Amino acid sequence: MWTLVLNSGSSSLKFALIDPASGETHLSGLAERLGAEAASLRLDSGGKRQTHALHGGSYAEAMRLVLNELDTLGLRSEVWAIGHRVVHGGSRFSSPASITPEVLDAIRECVPLAPLHNPASIAGIEAAMNAFPGLPQVAVFDTSFHQTLPEVAYRYAVPEEWFRQHGVRRYGFHGISHAFVAGEAARMLDRPLADLNLITAHLGNGCSVCAVSAGRSVDTSMGLTPLEGLVMGTRSGNVDPGLHDYLARVSGLTLTQITAALNRESGFLALSGLTNDMRELEEAAARGHVGARLAADIFVYRLAQGIASMAVALGRVDGLVFTGGIGENSATVRAATLARLPFLGLKLDESANSAAVRGQGGPISAPDSLPALVVNTNEEWMIARETAEILTKVAG
Ligand code: AMP
Repeated sequence: MWTLVLNSGSSSLKFALIDPASGETHLSGLAERLGAEAASLRLDSGGKRQTHALHGGSYAEAMRLVLNELDTLGLRSEVWAIGHRVVHGGSRFSSPASITPEVLDAIRECVPLAPLHNPASIAGIEAAMNAFPGLPQVAVFDTSFHQTLPEVAYRYAVPEEWFRQHGVRRYGFHGISHAFVAGEAARMLDRPLADLNLITAHLGNGCSVCAVSAGRSVDTSMGLTPLEGLVMGTRSGNVDPGLHDYLARVSGLTLTQITAALNRESGFLALSGLTNDMRELEEAAARGHVGARLAADIFVYRLAQGIASMAVALGRVDGLVFTGGIGENSATVRAATLARLPFLGLKLDESANSAAVRGQGGPISAPDSLPALVVNTNEEWMIARETAEILTKVAG
């Protein structure tokens, strides 16, 4: 039996048909630019790729084509459940939830916390409910893994009313990935997850680090929104909270414009003046591009600071895990990061680091070092597993 995993973005729908037990993927694809004339749907199955034009198509139209493909492959009746990635579950969801009208309302209530992401998840859930009436649907949240943060880690030092009335606290994101790679790292280290204190670094277009103690998140670098923490492709990460007021006064920019720029025009893009993409940044830095070099250096400096701060949350560190597009592929970022953290007992094995590329992963540290590993994340498989787990629990 297969689980259909859906990840709905503001104008995209990513999907995969996955066996929760083995992680095997049968059909996957991506609908992009939904709502625009150039909307398209890519389907990958059995080594073959098809692309369909959607001409302004919606989530519902994309779902209809996915359904057709399942019929063509004779797989529609094999789909036993649908697992949705939902970015923000607020303080309400500390675990995945079987979707009911009340759960859908609660996801709606979290829209002010994730105004771009949660409406897309709701659109995806509604399209899937219409396309697969009667099939169990589960919401798996990016935030719920971090609901185990202690109060010292999740509270900001701000007026209590902001926290009580408006939910101003740290939530954390990328939880599905941090949880998955912590489990995989324990398997690679051949030690029970329950005995391990790990630092996981999810480095993709968005970047965050997490302190995982006995399989539970105890601190993370993202906060109320996915803007806090590390420098990212187009996101600034931490800035002085006084920046908004100062800039609004001296430049006349509005709060909305400043926030949009911190999300979409900052990070590697702003520092390099060139690109938000780490691979291109590294190529340009190697050619001597000064901005690209600066962006890469600041990224690594702030990443190393983030990793060191997670050590405070853990007390004792048993391993460091790199994942995400940058973490899995950039030997340069990994080497430069470890070079800044000798006080954590980290020493690089250069040839292992060069050999650890996407699809393989493995240890990258010297024998006398604190273990550092590359683990390939698989958020879709984690969603399929969590969906199966909660539905089994509900049925039992
Ligand atoms: P993700 O969001 O996990 O797909 O990660 C996207 C990021 O990974 C982008 O910044 C890519 O440039 C980066 N990335 C992918 N492949 C490489 C590579 N070979 N070297 C450096 N960065 C890479």
